[in-house]
Amino acid sequence: MGSSMLREATSYIRPVNIDNAHAFLKSVLDSVKDHIVVIDQYGEIKFYNKSWSCFGDENNCAASTWCGLNYLAECDNATRSGDEFGAKAGEGIRDVIAGNKTEFYFEYPCHSPCEQRWFMMRVTPFKMDRQCFYVISHQNITERKLAENEVFNLARLDGLTNILNRRTFDELLGSEWKRCSRSHTPISLALIDLDYFKLLNDYYGHQSGDDCLIRVGALLRSFANRTGDICARYGGEEFALVWPDTSLENAQHMAQNVVKQIAELKILNEQSPVNQYLTASIGVAQMIPTVEYDKADLINRADNMLYQAKKQGRNCVELSADQVPIHSVPRGHSGNNGIALA
Ligand code: GH3
Ligand code: MG
Ligand code: MG
Repeated sequence: MGSSMLREATSYIRPVNIDNAHAFLKSVLDSVKDHIVVIDQYGEIKFYNKSWSCFGDENNCAASTWCGLNYLAECDNATRSGDEFGAKAGEGIRDVIAGNKTEFYFEYPCHSPCEQRWFMMRVTPFKMDRQCFYVISHQNITERKLAENEVFNLARLDGLTNILNRRTFDELLGSEWKRCSRSHTPISLALIDLDYFKLLNDYYGHQSGDDCLIRVGALLRSFANRTGDICARYGGEEFALVWPDTSLENAQHMAQNVVKQIAELKILNEQSPVNQYLTASIGVAQMIPTVEYDKADLINRADNMLYQAKKQGRNCVELSADQVPIHSVPRGHSGNNGIALA
């Protein structure tokens, strides 16, 4: 556009009177994406912007008029109906009003039926004509939260199998050990080692080896369904399953099933002296955590049992426990999905 055309176009537009401060600033605030309300020292809403009322309309919490409603009373109502956000928000706002805090902010989830959303609420005070007001803004931080969650998950998962990695395993085993110690309940650990995996790698290639690890990882994940259960890649071709609050009988049964189902994947390992299909050996240890023991003792016991399983001829489960199970399963033949009690 040439400069004469520009002059002609602009000549039709009446310049905005910025001196009309109220209308101008209201337009500014209405153009802000954050949902904003201003309350007085009693919690009464004195001002709200367009994003605030639009969000209310879209989320079934519209009011015929927002001004005059009491924000703190709404927080208290929400608290009474068990809403954690209401309690935190009310407490934070009151802290700022009382002058205990210069500002307050916190992040909270606010998921809708069709999308995950997070917001950050911020409370900032200001004074006008010796009266105190508080700006409460809610900023949508979903994009950042999703990115943070992704990074968090990436750091917790094993890159190849997509199950938990060793670092996360150590961390979670530590928490479960402590939890079982407090509740005096048993915790079981199964260490699973693929048999003659080096031969599989050498014969079919590293890529095939990787594919096997992915399939085994996916299978093992189905053995960790309850809260507190852990399924992780322990290292190389070794995996770990943790079953807290599980009877020894059930831990035994599940370990046997793992051996059985790995064989049923029918992954060829023709060079293996045990079976033409890939097999696994498992060492299981169960303990009731007490002060004289540590989670390292549980790992050592399971590791010793794994060594025994290998010695027994592989493709079997060996088990060590503080107590003998009610119905102990008799030892099977080596290479016959057997189980043995140490
Ligand atoms: P055993 O029955 O005594 O356990 O014998 P094994 O051959 O399974 O045990 P060994 O420790 O001799 O060999 C483990 C093999 O696992 C060697 C290593 O190359 C392979 N391995 C470890 N991590 C990976 C991986 O991420 N991908 C692939 N493809 N192979 C892996
Ligand atoms: Mg190994
Ligand atoms: Mg192995």
